[in-house]
Amino acid sequence: SIPLGFFGGIGAASKSGILVKGSNYLEALNDVKYVVFDKTGTLTKGVFQVTKIQAVSNISDKDVLKYAAYAELHSNHPIAESIREAFKEAIDEQLITKYEEISGYGIKANIAGKEVLAGNSKLMKQHDISFVEPGEIGTIVHLAIDNLYAGYIIISDEVKDDAESAIQSLKKLGIKRTVMLTGDARNVGKLIGQRLTIDEVHTELLPHNKVEEIEKLDQQKHPKEKIIFVGDGINDTPVLARADVGIAMGGLGSDAAIEAADIVIMTDEPSKIVTAIKLAKRTRKIVW
Ligand code: ADP
Ligand code: MG
Repeated sequence: SIPLGFFGGIGAASKSGILVKGSNYLEALNDVKYVVFDKTGTLTKGVFQVTKIQAVSNISDKDVLKYAAYAELHSNHPIAESIREAFKEAIDEQLITKYEEISGYGIKANIAGKEVLAGNSKLMKQHDISFVEPGEIGTIVHLAIDNLYAGYIIISDEVKDDAESAIQSLKKLGIKRTVMLTGDARNVGKLIGQRLTIDEVHTELLPHNKVEEIEKLDQQKHPKEKIIFVGDGINDTPVLARADVGIAMGGLGSDAAIEAADIVIMTDEPSKIVTAIKLAKRTRKIVW
């Protein structure tokens, strides 16, 4: 039978905006030694803003934005939303005759009869397109039209207000290692990792690489120690399911992530992980 104290713990958690799907997950939080984070939408706000548009061929900056906005019309990635928002103008959907979203890479679309690629450097390399590497820090969306490089868009995101203090509190609670896993570029990942004092940063990962990283950690650690993965769920449902405790951001997060997660943070604040661990410790004291 489930000890009564756990219901108190789950109730207290829900009052703090933390949805715990079972007493076993609250109990498991007591043994967590590794906290692994996704970046976009988890440690950062996931609200991107276009900060630069640069044509690198004989089309205009305006056309770079236009092709990118058309390519991103059907994507719900935060990057796509920021590009559509910057474009502002109406989009003639009938001009998009083919569309494919490649998770961890970007978009491939046919727009007004042209083959358009909008995505990261991996997408460009995959199609043998030589691209420019801007010096600025930010998430870069490269654009290619009919296999020719056309330019890039730089997008920036902001770190969440409570992210740094959450990392520091986790260390005080005895967490051995904090890790960030991201599909984003190396320079962006490293900068944010340093700013937040995260112990270990892995960048340019595809969704299945994130699962592999969790599996590696799983083999290194003591069997009794547990791993949390925290994500917003855009592309990280498999890794949420693989961790000992999967925590999803419920506000920005996708429905699939909320379903795959064991715990949902309704307010999207990373500091709620600290709250949940503290509650778990108190609950254990009451139960035993
Ligand atoms: P994260 O791991 O930071 O949450 P994702 O796995 O969602 O990031 O995406 C990884 C990378 O793939 C992004 O940083 C971006 O470079 C590229 N990407 C994914 N979706 C898109 C898109 N719709 N448009 C352009 N680039 C994209
Ligand atoms: Mg994400």
